[in-house]
Amino acid sequence: MFERSEAQKILLTHLGRVVREKVGPAAASTDQSGEFNWEIVSLFWDLGLLKMMLPPKYDGWPENPTHTLCLCIEEIAKACASSALLLIIQAVGSYPLIFAGSESQKKKYCPMISDERRLMGYLVTEPGAGSDVQAIRCVARPSGNDFILNGRKVFATNGSVAGIYSVLAKTGEKELSFFIVERDRKGISIGRIEDKCGFRGSNTAEVILEDVAVPEANLIGKRGEGFKIAMGDFDMSRPAVAALSLGLAEGALDYTVEYARQRHTFGKPLIQHQAIQFLLADASTLIEASRGLMERAALAFDSGNKNTRLASMAKFFCSDAAMKITTDMVQVLGGYGYIKDYPIERMFRDAKLTQIFEGANQIQRMIIGREISKT
Ligand SMILES: Cc1cc2nc3c(=O)[nH]c(=O)nc-3n(C[C@H](O)[C@H](O)[C@H](O)COP(=O)(O)OP(=O)(O)OC[C@H]3O[C@@H](n4cnc5c(N)ncnc54)[C@H](O)[C@@H]3O)c2cc1C
Repeated sequence: MFERSEAQKILLTHLGRVVREKVGPAAASTDQSGEFNWEIVSLFWDLGLLKMMLPPKYDGWPENPTHTLCLCIEEIAKACASSALLLIIQAVGSYPLIFAGSESQKKKYCPMISDERRLMGYLVTEPGAGSDVQAIRCVARPSGNDFILNGRKVFATNGSVAGIYSVLAKTGEKELSFFIVERDRKGISIGRIEDKCGFRGSNTAEVILEDVAVPEANLIGKRGEGFKIAMGDFDMSRPAVAALSLGLAEGALDYTVEYARQRHTFGKPLIQHQAIQFLLADASTLIEASRGLMERAALAFDSGNKNTRLASMAKFFCSDAAMKITTDMVQVLGGYGYIKDYPIERMFRDAKLTQIFEGANQIQRMIIGREISKT
C-alpha cells in the first residue's frame, strides 16, 4: 500500500462512514429495483466525489487526484459497485474537457459540472463499434459555424441521467473528433435503457443523435484528435476500473470470512476447514497484488508518466481477480451464495462487467503485448 496523505485519510474516514450508513444499506434494494439512486448521487456531490478530477481552480482534488479517486472508488465498491461506477463515468466523461479542452471551454463547462452538479456521459460505443473504436459511424458534418451530429450510441453509462456528454464522432473518412454536447440540445433522444445482469443500479442507455447542431466552439482539441484523446482517457479510467474490481473483491472476501466463522459443518466452523482456508488465502493474496498494481498505475498517471501498459495490467489483473474471488466466495457460501438474500450473489454478477468494459480483457492483453514488442 502506498502512503496516504492526511487529506486522503480524512476523506476516506468520512467516506467510510457514509458507505456504512447510506450506500451499503441501499445496495440490495437498488440492485433489485434497477432504479437510479439520486440520493446517493446527491451524497457524493456533497462529499466532492463527482468533481474530483476537475482542475483545482474548479474545485477538483489538488494532489494526486487519480489516486484519490481510485481509493474512493475502492471504498464504495466494497459495498456497492453500481454507486462506485458513478465516480468512474464522471471522470471518464469529463476527461476530454479537462485534458484536451481549451481554457474557454473549461471556464464554461467546469462550473456547470461543479456548481450545477451535472452528471457526465461518455458516448463512444455504437452497435457496430465497441472494442474497435475506429469503426464508429456517428458523423459530425461541418455546417457554417456548427457541426451537425448524427448517430446512435449504445451502452452509455448515465446515458439518460447525464446533463453533459462527451461524444466521439467522425469528422472525416478516417478522422475522429470529440465534442462536448449538452443533453438538452435539440435532436437528442434516449432509446432503450438496458436491463442488465449486474450493475443494476447504474443507468445504461442508448442515446440517439438526429441532426444535433453543436457549435464549432464545442469541438474538444483539434479536429482528428478524438482517437488520441479516447486512448488517453483509458490511461486514467483503467486504474479506476481496477479500483472498482479491487473494492468488489474485498467486499466479497470480508463478507465471506465473517460468514465462514458463523457457519458450522461437520462439527466445526467452515473457516476451520483447510479447503475453505485455501480459497480465502488465494483471494487475500490476489487482493494484495491487485492493490499494488492499481495504485502504481493511478500514481503513474498523476505524475504524468506514460502508464498505458501499467493501466492495462491493472485493469485486467484486478478484474480477473475480482471474477475469480467472487466466484470462489459463492462457493464458500454454498447454496446461500446463490441466493439473493446474501450480497455475494450480487457481487458475483457485478464482477463480470469489470472484465468487459473500459476495453475487454482480451484487448488489455493485446495492448500489453504490443507495448512489450515495442521495447
Ligand atoms: C454496462 C456497460 C456500461 C458501458 N458504459 C459505456 C459508456 O459509458 N460509454 C461507452 O462508450 N461504452 C460503454 N460500454 C461499452 C463497452 O466499453 C464495450 O461493451 C466494450 O468496449 C466491448 O465492446 P463490445 O461489447 O462491442 O464487444 P466486441 O468489441 O464485439 O468484443 C466481443 C468480444 O471479443 C473480444 N475481441 C474483440 N476484438 C478482439 C480481437 N481483435 N482479438 C481478440 N479478442 C477480441 C472482446 O474482448 C470481447 O470479449 C459499456 C458497456 C456495458 C456493458
